[in-house]
Amino acid sequence: MQACSTRRRILAQGIRLAAACLLIAVDSHKPATAKTQKAALLYQNRPHEGQHCGDCKYFSPEGSGAGSGTCALVEGVIERDGWCVAYAART
Ligand code: SF4
Repeated sequence: MQACSTRRRILAQGIRLAAACLLIAVDSHKPATAKTQKAALLYQNRPHEGQHCGDCKYFSPEGSGAGSGTCALVEGVIERDGWCVAYAART
């Protein structure tokens, strides 16, 4: 009886380990499309020490002369005059 209980316990642990490996494998294949929330990168709607989104390599204007646009890193619409800690000057 003891051996049967031990086998069942080992089998259950094996199944849990296989399930955990499967979850990790599935999670690692998610597309990397999610953007970061503004608050996480300390986004603000004003420039910071002369730096602003309009001069950042991650910024895309919505249209010609638009005061707003989108960012490759930050979710949602952002201001051309905004800024966040991920700022990287356009070269
Ligand atoms: S990374 Fe930051 S500074 Fe650059 S465009 Fe995106 S929000 Fe603006």
